[in-house]
Amino acid sequence: MSVAPAPTVPLGDRFARELPEMARPWRAEDAPDPKLLVLNEPLATELGLDPGFLRSADGLRLLVGAAVPDGASPVAQAYAGHQFGGFVPRLGDGRALLLGELVGADGCLHDLHLKGSGRTPFARGGDGLAAVGPMLREYVVSEAMAALGVPTTRSLAVVATGREVYRETPLPGAVLARVASSHLRVGSFQYARATDDVDLLRRLADHAISRHHPGAAGAERPYLALFDAVVAAQASLVARWMLVGFVHGVMNTDNMTISGETIDYGPCAFLDAFDPTTVYSSIDSGGRYAYGNQPVVAEWNLARLAEALLPLIDDEQERAVTLAVESLGAFRPRYSDAWSAGMRAKLGLPEGLDDAVASALVDEVLTLLRADRVDHTSFFRGLAAVARGDGETTRNLFLDLAGFDGWVARWRALDPDADGMDRVNPVYIPRNHLVEEALEAATAGNLNPLGRLLDAVSDPYTRRPGLERYAAPAPEDFGAYRTFCGT
Ligand code: AMP
Ligand code: MG
Repeated sequence: MSVAPAPTVPLGDRFARELPEMARPWRAEDAPDPKLLVLNEPLATELGLDPGFLRSADGLRLLVGAAVPDGASPVAQAYAGHQFGGFVPRLGDGRALLLGELVGADGCLHDLHLKGSGRTPFARGGDGLAAVGPMLREYVVSEAMAALGVPTTRSLAVVATGREVYRETPLPGAVLARVASSHLRVGSFQYARATDDVDLLRRLADHAISRHHPGAAGAERPYLALFDAVVAAQASLVARWMLVGFVHGVMNTDNMTISGETIDYGPCAFLDAFDPTTVYSSIDSGGRYAYGNQPVVAEWNLARLAEALLPLIDDEQERAVTLAVESLGAFRPRYSDAWSAGMRAKLGLPEGLDDAVASALVDEVLTLLRADRVDHTSFFRGLAAVARGDGETTRNLFLDLAGFDGWVARWRALDPDADGMDRVNPVYIPRNHLVEEALEAATAGNLNPLGRLLDAVSDPYTRRPGLERYAAPAPEDFGAYRTFCGT
């Protein structure tokens, strides 16, 4: 393995220095023949990285981890996690590396992280690698989420390695370069807690407070205030997911951040038909992470975070439990408030409308959508046209026309704000059939469909001519969609 310097990238090593017990110094496997598949130029610029450099041979070596900039010390991060409810005390980055932290144009620290960069000491039975399709899926979906205004990790680049990856069949391999405000997870705290080293747990919490929730530092109980801040961030995040119809697919505690950013896009997908029981992931046979379960699962995961934090919350365990339970109690009202406010905006309901009237309208429309398996995104976007008196296309999404007409009459009487609705109901999301089409073509070497899809979802609220097929529901023959964790 050759290691050449790339001195133009000022990567810090704060995580590795402050939390060495959770950072294994490690190097990426070399990539035999790196080729850039996609580069996020605006994000590169925001991070102070020169897109021209990233496209160069040295830049590609940085993006696959073959070249380590002077002063950087890449590490595999340790974390634990509840996977489908079962606790695993040692997971960690099995195929990922934290290259280090960059200061962005916003003055904040951002992790630069690689996924698919080879086996690490946490790899267990895995090969440490990733295929082109799943890395491009993370790129497309995370960038769509960012454009929709949902907090998320970002994707900087996907580089094909020139190495084959063996899944069910041999596939081209790739490395994703990912950017996050940090990679601290609920599972990071569970790892520190499981070591029984309270000093490590405290340093981790201090690191998290300083990077994400600095207001907690001045609170009477800073670690309880940290927990409160994570509860608030996750309640707001999951409400955003529900409002755009996002199904994460694998909400294990190691896939939930302390920052409140969406992380680890594996078997994720957006709803086609509105149905709370929707599960796309092939491994989620019990439906634990179904669309409609996501708020309850988030609350469950936060309870696991509270358990990990207990020794910092109060010396007396009973008191710590009482305080944590009280804080966790804020999740439901916070989630409900965020979701209800979002639904009111999606329906363009006037400010000051009575809560009972608003929630009855919301409940009734969701019942109609579910009964007729109506396309979630098309319905909400189309509703602004109904408000403007041009409702036929949207009406035709329903079988129960009398039910729809009755609801519309009551809703239109409230004079809904059609322009406001267009600002919150996207035209373009990464629809499942379009994602599949783009990834299949990219895997076969044609990046054009991916480019067109990225173009559509990067500006999701503005309807543009020529992009009609990106706004349309899946064709009838698309069938039941399945996503795979075998990423
Ligand atoms: P995920 O469900 O993708 O978030 O991953 C769960 C755990 O499995 C993490 O510790 C990953 O690092 C690890 N992992 C997933 N895929 C691989 C792989 N191909 N090789 C090594 N470790 C992996
Ligand atoms: Mg993960």
